[in-house]
Amino acid sequence: MYELNQVSDRCYYIQSPAKIGLVRTGDTSVVLIDSGNDKDAGKKVLRLLEGKGWTLEAIYNTHSHADHIGGNRFLQEHTGCRIYAPGIEYDFTRAPILEPSYLYGGNPPSELRHKFLMAQPSRVKELASEDLPDCMQMIPLPGHAFDMVGYRVDNVIYLADCLSSEATLAKYRISFLVDPKKYIETLLQVREMEADWFIPAHADATQEIRSLCDINIACVREIADHITALCTQAQTGEDILAALFAEYGLTMTMEQHALVGSTVRSYLTYLSEAGRIVPTIRNNRLMWQAQS
Ligand SMILES: [Zn+2]
Repeated sequence: MYELNQVSDRCYYIQSPAKIGLVRTGDTSVVLIDSGNDKDAGKKVLRLLEGKGWTLEAIYNTHSHADHIGGNRFLQEHTGCRIYAPGIEYDFTRAPILEPSYLYGGNPPSELRHKFLMAQPSRVKELASEDLPDCMQMIPLPGHAFDMVGYRVDNVIYLADCLSSEATLAKYRISFLVDPKKYIETLLQVREMEADWFIPAHADATQEIRSLCDINIACVREIADHITALCTQAQTGEDILAALFAEYGLTMTMEQHALVGSTVRSYLTYLSEAGRIVPTIRNNRLMWQAQS
């Protein structure tokens, strides 16, 4: 973990639970794409930069999930680096309580206020394209998070969380997302992109991205079909979540209830907007019924 891998003249990534991109912008200056999952990740990254004699100028966050912004605060405190995040991701990065609040749907209980769901706040600015070094372009990748972006540098594309590995999909089945429709649209665009290297944060760096895009798209479509089938008879969101966990052999915890529960509710919105299911109130319960 935390080895530095070089993929082009100036592009690198640091192997970690969520890969951290590193781009050399001058003889000794570098910028990071995300900052790792916590303070310890920040410490390891700082040690690596000091060992190379590199100065951290800025962190460009892809989105606001804690495993991508968790090192922000430590690195900013120790280097004074600037931090940027796109759109709504900026608001969540500035005020990390929004993440467990969004997932839970109210003021979150203490069980959801831990570092995996709530990073330390950092002084962040909303990213505009003029804030990027000349060599970097941002690529909108909405779906996994509201305003997630990737970054292209030369012939390398950093893809953040828009793809899960095959092993992760086999184990967890339902990968986190906020908008299945946009998620699929994003992946259909990613599969047509040309680059020498693609760096997804949670899958191996690869020179061929199409097959993994197709696997992820198929997975989302299968889950959407499955939820629709479960709604043949009207179901509450809780019933649907419980049925999916039983069927896929998943272990329910407070954290999984929040993460997968939020994802399933996003699928219900997607299916409702597609006219495949409808919401209905019965006996004071919100239920979902497939359209015949
Ligand atoms: Zn994420």
